[in-house]
Amino acid sequence: MASSDRVAIITGGANGIGKACARRLSEDGCQVVIADVDAQAGQDLADELGAEKGKALFVQCDVSDRLAVNNLLSETRASFDRLDILVNNAGIVAGGDILSLSEADFDRVMGVNLKGAFLVAREAARQMVDQIEEEGERSENARRRYAIINMSSVNAVMAIPDQLAYCATKGAIQQMTKSMALALAPHGIRVNAIGPGSINTDVLKSVNDNPEALDRIMSRTPLKRIGDPDEVAAIASFLASRDASYITGETIYADGGRMALNYTV
Ligand code: NAD
Repeated sequence: MASSDRVAIITGGANGIGKACARRLSEDGCQVVIADVDAQAGQDLADELGAEKGKALFVQCDVSDRLAVNNLLSETRASFDRLDILVNNAGIVAGGDILSLSEADFDRVMGVNLKGAFLVAREAARQMVDQIEEEGERSENARRRYAIINMSSVNAVMAIPDQLAYCATKGAIQQMTKSMALALAPHGIRVNAIGPGSINTDVLKSVNDNPEALDRIMSRTPLKRIGDPDEVAAIASFLASRDASYITGETIYADGGRMALNYTV
Protein backbone atom coordinates (compact mmCIF):
# COMPACT_ATOMS: atom_id res chain seq x y z
CA MET A 1 0.00 0.00 0.00
CA ALA A 2 1.48 3.36 -1.02
CA SER A 3 1.81 6.07 1.60
CA SER A 4 -0.81 8.10 -0.31
CA ASP A 5 -3.36 5.42 0.60
CA ARG A 6 -3.33 6.41 4.26
CA VAL A 7 -6.56 6.86 6.20
CA ALA A 8 -6.78 9.75 8.67
CA ILE A 9 -9.33 10.65 11.35
CA ILE A 10 -9.53 14.33 12.26
CA THR A 11 -11.64 15.13 15.33
CA GLY A 12 -13.17 18.59 15.45
CA GLY A 13 -12.53 18.43 11.71
CA ALA A 14 -15.56 20.41 10.58
CA ASN A 15 -14.23 23.89 11.41
CA GLY A 16 -11.12 25.92 12.14
CA ILE A 17 -7.78 24.16 12.57
CA GLY A 18 -9.33 20.69 12.19
CA LYS A 19 -10.90 21.67 8.87
CA ALA A 20 -7.53 22.93 7.61
CA CYS A 21 -5.93 19.65 8.72
CA ALA A 22 -8.61 17.61 6.93
CA ARG A 23 -8.11 19.62 3.72
CA ARG A 24 -4.32 19.36 3.91
CA LEU A 25 -4.27 15.60 4.61
CA SER A 26 -6.76 15.14 1.76
CA GLU A 27 -4.38 17.08 -0.53
CA ASP A 28 -1.60 14.81 0.72
CA GLY A 29 -3.61 11.88 -0.69
CA CYS A 30 -5.22 10.58 2.51
CA GLN A 31 -8.77 9.35 2.79
CA VAL A 32 -10.13 11.53 5.57
CA VAL A 33 -12.71 10.86 8.27
CA ILE A 34 -14.12 14.10 9.68
CA ALA A 35 -15.44 13.53 13.21
CA ASP A 36 -17.39 16.39 14.74
CA VAL A 37 -20.57 17.34 16.58
CA ASP A 38 -21.32 19.92 13.84
CA ALA A 39 -23.18 17.76 11.31
CA GLN A 40 -23.86 20.45 8.72
CA ALA A 41 -20.30 21.77 8.45
CA GLY A 42 -18.85 18.26 8.72
CA GLN A 43 -20.97 16.82 5.92
CA ASP A 44 -20.35 19.88 3.71
CA LEU A 45 -16.57 19.44 4.11
CA ALA A 46 -16.77 15.68 3.45
CA ASP A 47 -18.74 16.43 0.26
CA GLU A 48 -16.15 19.02 -0.78
CA LEU A 49 -13.32 16.53 -0.20
CA GLY A 50 -14.94 13.79 -2.28
CA ALA A 51 -17.30 11.78 -0.07
CA GLU A 52 -19.06 10.51 -3.18
CA LYS A 53 -15.84 9.11 -4.59
CA GLY A 54 -14.92 7.42 -1.28
CA LYS A 55 -12.23 9.98 -0.45
CA ALA A 56 -13.89 11.45 2.64
CA LEU A 57 -16.43 10.53 5.29
CA PHE A 58 -18.25 12.54 7.93
CA VAL A 59 -19.13 10.82 11.20
CA GLN A 60 -21.12 12.74 13.81
CA CYS A 61 -19.24 12.15 17.04
CA ASP A 62 -19.03 13.77 20.45
CA VAL A 63 -15.50 12.77 21.47
CA SER A 64 -16.42 12.83 25.16
CA ASP A 65 -18.92 9.97 24.59
CA ARG A 66 -17.26 6.53 24.63
CA LEU A 67 -19.98 4.88 22.56
CA ALA A 68 -19.83 7.63 19.95
CA VAL A 69 -16.06 7.14 19.76
CA ASN A 70 -16.51 3.37 19.35
CA ASN A 71 -18.95 4.12 16.53
CA LEU A 72 -16.40 6.47 14.90
CA LEU A 73 -13.88 3.63 14.69
CA SER A 74 -16.55 1.18 13.43
CA GLU A 75 -17.61 3.59 10.69
CA THR A 76 -13.97 4.18 9.72
CA ARG A 77 -13.35 0.42 9.44
CA ALA A 78 -16.58 -0.09 7.51
CA SER A 79 -15.66 2.57 4.92
CA PHE A 80 -11.87 2.35 4.68
CA ASP A 81 -10.89 -0.85 6.48
CA ARG A 82 -7.90 0.72 8.24
CA LEU A 83 -6.52 3.72 10.12
CA ASP A 84 -3.05 5.26 9.80
CA ILE A 85 -3.28 8.80 11.19
CA LEU A 86 -5.24 10.48 13.98
CA VAL A 87 -5.38 14.24 14.40
CA ASN A 88 -6.84 14.51 17.90
CA ASN A 89 -7.99 18.09 17.59
CA ALA A 90 -11.51 18.66 19.04
CA GLY A 91 -11.36 21.27 21.78
CA ILE A 92 -13.53 23.84 23.57
CA VAL A 93 -13.03 26.72 25.99
CA ALA A 94 -15.03 27.92 28.99
CA GLY A 95 -14.26 31.13 30.90
CA GLY A 96 -13.61 30.95 34.62
CA ASP A 97 -10.73 31.29 37.10
CA ILE A 98 -10.12 29.40 40.34
CA LEU A 99 -12.66 31.62 42.15
CA SER A 100 -15.41 31.58 39.54
CA LEU A 101 -15.21 28.44 37.38
CA SER A 102 -18.29 26.25 37.74
CA GLU A 103 -17.95 22.51 38.27
CA ALA A 104 -20.13 21.94 35.19
CA ASP A 105 -17.82 24.01 32.96
CA PHE A 106 -14.73 22.31 34.43
CA ASP A 107 -16.24 18.88 33.66
CA ARG A 108 -17.34 19.94 30.15
CA VAL A 109 -13.87 21.18 29.13
CA MET A 110 -12.16 18.17 30.72
CA GLY A 111 -14.67 15.88 28.99
CA VAL A 112 -13.95 17.15 25.48
CA ASN A 113 -10.31 18.30 25.61
CA LEU A 114 -8.79 15.61 27.82
CA LYS A 115 -11.10 12.62 28.26
CA GLY A 116 -12.25 12.96 24.65
CA ALA A 117 -8.67 13.06 23.40
CA PHE A 118 -7.93 9.97 25.52
CA LEU A 119 -10.97 8.02 24.30
CA VAL A 120 -10.27 8.68 20.62
CA ALA A 121 -6.52 8.05 20.97
CA ARG A 122 -7.14 4.78 22.81
CA GLU A 123 -9.49 3.40 20.15
CA ALA A 124 -7.26 4.66 17.32
CA ALA A 125 -4.13 3.18 18.89
CA ARG A 126 -5.85 -0.18 19.45
CA GLN A 127 -6.91 -0.22 15.78
CA MET A 128 -3.36 0.65 14.64
CA VAL A 129 -1.77 -2.00 16.85
CA ASP A 130 -4.26 -4.61 15.59
CA GLN A 131 -3.35 -3.73 12.00
CA ILE A 132 0.38 -3.86 12.68
CA GLU A 133 -0.02 -7.30 14.26
CA GLU A 134 -2.50 -8.69 11.73
CA GLU A 135 -0.71 -7.43 8.65
CA GLY A 136 2.72 -8.30 10.00
CA GLU A 137 3.75 -4.73 9.29
CA ARG A 138 6.93 -5.19 11.24
CA SER A 139 9.41 -3.84 8.71
CA GLU A 140 10.73 -0.41 9.61
CA ASN A 141 9.48 1.01 6.35
CA ALA A 142 5.91 -0.23 6.77
CA ARG A 143 5.64 1.01 10.34
CA ARG A 144 6.56 4.59 9.45
CA ARG A 145 3.02 5.28 8.22
CA TYR A 146 1.44 5.42 11.67
CA ALA A 147 1.10 8.74 13.53
CA ILE A 148 -1.06 10.30 16.22
CA ILE A 149 -1.07 14.09 16.54
CA ASN A 150 -2.64 15.71 19.60
CA MET A 151 -3.70 19.38 19.40
CA SER A 152 -2.14 21.13 22.37
CA SER A 153 -1.59 24.90 22.79
CA VAL A 154 0.91 27.41 24.10
CA ASN A 155 -1.37 27.16 27.13
CA ALA A 156 0.19 23.79 27.88
CA VAL A 157 2.99 25.82 29.46
CA MET A 158 1.71 29.43 29.62
CA ALA A 159 -1.42 30.15 31.65
CA ILE A 160 -4.43 32.46 31.39
CA PRO A 161 -6.11 33.15 34.75
CA ASP A 162 -9.70 32.94 33.51
CA GLN A 163 -9.11 29.85 31.37
CA LEU A 164 -8.25 27.48 34.21
CA ALA A 165 -9.94 24.40 32.74
CA TYR A 166 -8.55 24.94 29.24
CA CYS A 167 -4.98 25.48 30.46
CA ALA A 168 -5.20 22.40 32.70
CA THR A 169 -6.32 20.21 29.79
CA LYS A 170 -3.57 21.44 27.47
CA GLY A 171 -0.89 20.87 30.12
CA ALA A 172 -2.26 17.36 30.53
CA ILE A 173 -2.25 16.78 26.75
CA GLN A 174 1.49 17.45 26.71
CA GLN A 175 2.15 14.72 29.27
CA MET A 176 -0.39 12.37 27.68
CA THR A 177 1.49 12.82 24.39
CA LYS A 178 4.74 11.71 26.01
CA SER A 179 3.13 8.79 27.84
CA MET A 180 1.40 7.60 24.65
CA ALA A 181 4.61 8.01 22.65
CA LEU A 182 6.50 5.76 25.06
CA ALA A 183 3.77 3.09 25.14
CA LEU A 184 3.35 3.01 21.35
CA ALA A 185 7.02 3.29 20.36
CA PRO A 186 7.55 -0.51 20.45
CA HIS A 187 4.80 -0.81 17.83
CA GLY A 188 6.34 1.91 15.65
CA ILE A 189 3.46 4.37 16.14
CA ARG A 190 4.68 7.94 16.62
CA VAL A 191 2.80 10.35 18.90
CA ASN A 192 3.42 14.09 18.81
CA ALA A 193 1.58 17.31 19.59
CA ILE A 194 1.20 20.75 18.04
CA GLY A 195 1.03 23.80 20.30
CA PRO A 196 -0.51 26.71 18.39
CA GLY A 197 -0.46 30.31 19.61
CA SER A 198 -3.26 32.62 18.42
CA ILE A 199 -4.79 31.17 15.25
CA ASN A 200 -7.56 32.74 13.19
CA THR A 201 -10.60 30.53 13.96
CA ASP A 202 -14.00 31.00 15.64
CA VAL A 203 -12.25 30.72 19.02
CA LEU A 204 -10.53 34.05 18.27
CA LYS A 205 -13.64 35.82 16.92
CA SER A 206 -14.13 37.87 20.10
CA VAL A 207 -10.49 38.98 19.95
CA ASN A 208 -10.63 39.88 16.25
CA ASP A 209 -13.63 42.13 16.92
CA ASN A 210 -11.87 43.89 19.81
CA PRO A 211 -8.96 46.16 18.74
CA GLU A 212 -7.61 46.44 22.31
CA ALA A 213 -7.49 42.68 22.76
CA LEU A 214 -5.87 42.31 19.34
CA ASP A 215 -3.24 44.93 20.28
CA ARG A 216 -2.50 43.03 23.47
CA ILE A 217 -1.91 39.81 21.53
CA MET A 218 0.24 41.60 18.92
CA SER A 219 2.37 43.18 21.65
CA ARG A 220 3.52 39.71 22.69
CA THR A 221 3.65 38.10 19.24
CA PRO A 222 7.05 38.86 17.63
CA LEU A 223 5.81 37.95 14.11
CA LYS A 224 3.05 40.58 14.64
CA ARG A 225 0.18 38.65 13.15
CA ILE A 226 -2.42 36.02 13.99
CA GLY A 227 -1.58 32.58 12.60
CA ASP A 228 -3.54 30.91 9.84
CA PRO A 229 -5.12 27.45 10.34
CA ASP A 230 -3.19 26.28 7.25
CA GLU A 231 0.07 27.01 9.10
CA VAL A 232 -0.97 24.52 11.78
CA ALA A 233 -2.21 22.01 9.20
CA ALA A 234 1.21 22.09 7.52
CA ILE A 235 2.78 20.87 10.77
CA ALA A 236 0.19 18.09 11.06
CA SER A 237 1.04 17.07 7.48
CA PHE A 238 4.75 16.98 8.34
CA LEU A 239 4.28 15.07 11.61
CA ALA A 240 2.11 12.52 9.79
CA SER A 241 4.69 12.07 7.04
CA ARG A 242 7.75 9.85 6.77
CA ASP A 243 9.87 13.01 6.94
CA ALA A 244 9.07 13.00 10.68
CA SER A 245 9.89 9.31 11.09
CA TYR A 246 12.34 9.81 14.01
CA ILE A 247 10.20 12.33 15.94
CA THR A 248 8.02 11.06 18.78
CA GLY A 249 6.91 12.46 22.14
CA GLU A 250 7.47 16.05 20.94
CA THR A 251 5.30 19.15 20.94
CA ILE A 252 5.97 21.60 18.08
CA TYR A 253 4.90 25.14 18.96
CA ALA A 254 3.62 27.44 16.20
CA ASP A 255 3.17 30.72 18.06
CA GLY A 256 4.78 33.52 16.03
CA GLY A 257 7.63 33.63 18.56
CA ARG A 258 5.48 34.22 21.64
CA MET A 259 7.10 31.68 23.90
CA ALA A 260 10.59 32.98 23.03
CA LEU A 261 9.73 36.48 24.25
CA ASN A 262 10.53 37.65 27.75
CA TYR A 263 7.77 40.24 27.94
CA THR A 264 9.18 41.95 31.03
CA VAL A 265 12.30 43.40 29.33
P1 NAD B 1 -13.02 25.79 16.49
O1 NAD B 1 -14.02 26.12 17.53
O2 NAD B 1 -12.90 26.63 15.27
O3 NAD B 1 -13.22 24.27 16.01
C1 NAD B 1 -13.38 23.24 16.96
C2 NAD B 1 -14.15 22.11 16.31
O4 NAD B 1 -14.35 21.09 17.32
C3 NAD B 1 -15.56 22.53 15.85
O5 NAD B 1 -15.81 22.00 14.56
C4 NAD B 1 -16.49 21.93 16.89
O6 NAD B 1 -17.76 21.60 16.37
C5 NAD B 1 -15.69 20.67 17.26
N1 NAD B 1 -16.09 20.12 18.57
C6 NAD B 1 -16.39 20.81 19.71
N2 NAD B 1 -16.73 19.94 20.67
C7 NAD B 1 -16.65 18.70 20.13
C8 NAD B 1 -16.92 17.40 20.64
N3 NAD B 1 -17.34 17.21 21.90
N4 NAD B 1 -16.71 16.33 19.82
C9 NAD B 1 -16.32 16.53 18.53
N5 NAD B 1 -16.07 17.74 18.00
C10 NAD B 1 -16.24 18.82 18.80
O7 NAD B 1 -11.63 25.72 17.29
P2 NAD B 1 -10.12 25.75 16.75
O8 NAD B 1 -9.56 27.08 17.07
O9 NAD B 1 -10.04 25.22 15.37
O10 NAD B 1 -9.47 24.73 17.77
C11 NAD B 1 -9.08 23.42 17.39
C12 NAD B 1 -8.05 22.92 18.39
O11 NAD B 1 -6.91 23.78 18.36
C13 NAD B 1 -8.54 22.88 19.83
O12 NAD B 1 -8.04 21.73 20.49
C14 NAD B 1 -7.93 24.14 20.43
O13 NAD B 1 -7.74 24.04 21.81
C15 NAD B 1 -6.61 24.19 19.68
N6 NAD B 1 -6.00 25.52 19.69
C16 NAD B 1 -6.58 26.58 19.03
C17 NAD B 1 -5.96 27.83 19.08
C18 NAD B 1 -6.51 29.04 18.36
O14 NAD B 1 -5.99 30.15 18.55
N7 NAD B 1 -7.54 28.91 17.55
C19 NAD B 1 -4.77 27.99 19.79
C20 NAD B 1 -4.21 26.91 20.44
C21 NAD B 1 -4.84 25.67 20.39
